[in-house]
Amino acid sequence: MKLFNNQNVTNFFKLPCVADSVYQLSNAEDYLELYQNITNPIVIGEGSNLILPPKLNKQVIKLNYKNISHNNNLIEISGGVTWEELIDYTLYHELYGLENLTAIPGLVTAAPVQNIGAYGVQISDFIESVICWDLESKNFTTLNKDDCCFNYRQSIFQSNKSLIIHKVILRLNNFFEPNISYQSIQDYFSLNQVDHNDLTPKKLSDIIRNIRLTRLPDPKINPNVGSFFKNPIINETQLSDIKNIYPNTPCWIENNLYKISAGWLISKIKTDLTYRDVEIFEPNNLVLINRGCSYNQLMRLISEIKTKVKDNFDIVLAVEPEIIA
Ligand SMILES: Cc1cc2nc3c(=O)[nH]c(=O)nc-3n(C[C@H](O)[C@H](O)[C@H](O)COP(=O)(O)OP(=O)(O)OC[C@H]3O[C@@H](n4cnc5c(N)ncnc54)[C@H](O)[C@@H]3O)c2cc1C
Repeated sequence: MKLFNNQNVTNFFKLPCVADSVYQLSNAEDYLELYQNITNPIVIGEGSNLILPPKLNKQVIKLNYKNISHNNNLIEISGGVTWEELIDYTLYHELYGLENLTAIPGLVTAAPVQNIGAYGVQISDFIESVICWDLESKNFTTLNKDDCCFNYRQSIFQSNKSLIIHKVILRLNNFFEPNISYQSIQDYFSLNQVDHNDLTPKKLSDIIRNIRLTRLPDPKINPNVGSFFKNPIINETQLSDIKNIYPNTPCWIENNLYKISAGWLISKIKTDLTYRDVEIFEPNNLVLINRGCSYNQLMRLISEIKTKVKDNFDIVLAVEPEIIA
């Protein structure tokens, strides 16, 4: 294990951040050394779903080892393997199911935390188990899928911060059964005259990457953390109330839940916003781009957006990335 003090912590929103200390774990044995030192930990993967303060008074834990292997359709991924590396591995080894999750940034070990999902698929659909180091019991513990309490962009790992995800075990499909029901996939198929019969896992993965390019700015050029707000889940009555006023409100049913587009809600209030050093990405208003704002200025803008959406629609927006105070 390596320890660094007063370290810069990189993050996709490109807010300057210096951490008290950073512990880099080089292998699974290093967890044993952690308990002697850690009082206020935070695990950071690639920082693609985090908003960090200028001074991070926490002990940052980084997983500086990685491994990926499979036995039939069970695949084990540990440490710092990126989600993109996993997608490549599964396509190469003809393991199916993750195609719709192509091009999501971050590490595989961070993915269960917010139960990453896109285009009608989420990681919880494939979780067999998650092996964690428990900072409380100072032992490895195995959580099966039910133990993880997965929900829409939710899991137990958001509330239980003593669990460090060391390894993720996924059960993938041995056969290709594409999930192409999402409207934007269907639109892409019609526009580009894609023949359903010619579809391969690689083609579907490339299509998802192409769709995402039009919806999300490249974080390397335009600092962002993807969707800044969750699409609110509303009940049937709320939905019909809004539809009475705005008949074309983008909304849909997913996993038996009524969802309304947070991006659309923001598009309706954005001209009233006063703060301008954060850009609201025009093709997809769910994405905020840092144009030189500070942490405090971003907090003010978030609060302004939430207040205006609440006042106009009586809907409480929830922020998707984790904001660290
Ligand atoms: C351009 C862009 C597009 C995106 N698109 C999507 C999308 O389509 N769908 C989606 O769901 N998300 C999306 N995201 C969000 C992001 O990619 C995911 O949340 C990703 O899983 C975060 O991985 P990370 O390694 O960057 O984690 P970080 O941002 O470093 O951490 C995220 C959270 O996980 C915790 N954490 C990290 N590693 C561990 C660990 N080993 N054990 C315990 N806790 C841990 C952190 O403490 C933090 O709370 C997008 C982000 C960007 C920038």
